[in-house]
Amino acid sequence: MQLEIRGVSAQYGSVTALREISLTVDTGEIVAILGPSGSGKSTLLQVLAGLQPITTGEVRLGERVLTRPGFIVSPEQRGIGMVFQDFALWPHLTVADTIRFPLDGLKQSHEEKMARVRELLSLVQLDGFGARYPHELSGGQRQRVAIARALANRPKLVLLDEPMASLDARLRETMRIDLARILHEQDASALYVTHDRTEALVVADRVALLHAGEISQSGSAADIYERPNNRFIAEFLGPVNWIPAEVMAEREGAHAEAKTGVGLHLEGGVRVPGLSAQPVPVGRTGMAMMRPEDLELVEASASGTRVWHGRVQAAHYMGMHWQVVVEIAGIDPVTVYHPVPVTVGSSVGVQLRRPAVWFLASAAESVREPQEASAVR
Ligand code: ADP
Repeated sequence: MQLEIRGVSAQYGSVTALREISLTVDTGEIVAILGPSGSGKSTLLQVLAGLQPITTGEVRLGERVLTRPGFIVSPEQRGIGMVFQDFALWPHLTVADTIRFPLDGLKQSHEEKMARVRELLSLVQLDGFGARYPHELSGGQRQRVAIARALANRPKLVLLDEPMASLDARLRETMRIDLARILHEQDASALYVTHDRTEALVVADRVALLHAGEISQSGSAADIYERPNNRFIAEFLGPVNWIPAEVMAEREGAHAEAKTGVGLHLEGGVRVPGLSAQPVPVGRTGMAMMRPEDLELVEASASGTRVWHGRVQAAHYMGMHWQVVVEIAGIDPVTVYHPVPVTVGSSVGVQLRRPAVWFLASAAESVREPQEASAVR
């Protein structure tokens, strides 16, 4: 069922925690709300759970209004499942009893309820664990129980509040994929709150970035990672090299030719947001965005329109690769990933691997018109 958040603001006294937020979560869709601490994530969850009043706007689930200024449907009447950061399992209930608990009020026979419990145990891959107590489970298993409990009642919407926060790094990696599968199998719409960018990118069908109580961008993971609306979003999602650039001429589609401050000529090489809808911004200066993985180290003798030269300033071992910082005359040092160690002080070439890079017109903002989050798919 579709969740519609329309123009919602929420306040704590004089503090505005959410400012006219609009976002739609379609039936069966997983949307991650990604944002730094204090951006309003918990407040949004509380609004959706029915624990926090709003001052403007409306929250609907399907046709039903859940919250309006001065009106709140209580948490237990919303048909919403919740998964909390600490899982909130009761120590005295077995796994089976925990999962069955939300079914207690339903007019179903004991057999029907137990059949649903078995179905859920199998869904979260805990067959045979029904008789165990929480202290007899690992962190990952406890989390699966919390997920099964949240889904027991076949909720129309599942809210997940940093559900991986208390799991170790290795477990998180497998759980991300499992969680996406489980939610999709139950066809539940889900809103997933996290400050972990990798988690958001992996789990969600769509990511909405919350910043200072506003949604600054929403789109597919690739959309916001590769085409961020502004520098804050770009940097929140991962390391970036910003190379000063100037647009020279329009090319096909939304591409433009640009030259960079280091003499790198990006022929057909920058994608300028909104270009196809606007006159060519020739002469516009800005920043070409190059993530470390967009670049590679090449021989110092290499040449070409996408190669420039510098000196290795530092190299850090990162496990999967070396993070190499290269000093280049005229711009800030550039960070590149490299599979093998390199000698600090050596001369190298840095080559752009992509045919095109993203371009932001100024440090703070993009030329893309701000869009209502729900309209961006
Ligand atoms: P997040 O979950 O992203 O860390 P929150 O929703 O908790 O963000 O907070 C959003 C803003 O609202 C912050 O500025 C925070 O200080 C403020 N805030 C949150 N809860 C309260 C409260 N109970 N009273 C006053 N201000 C609050």
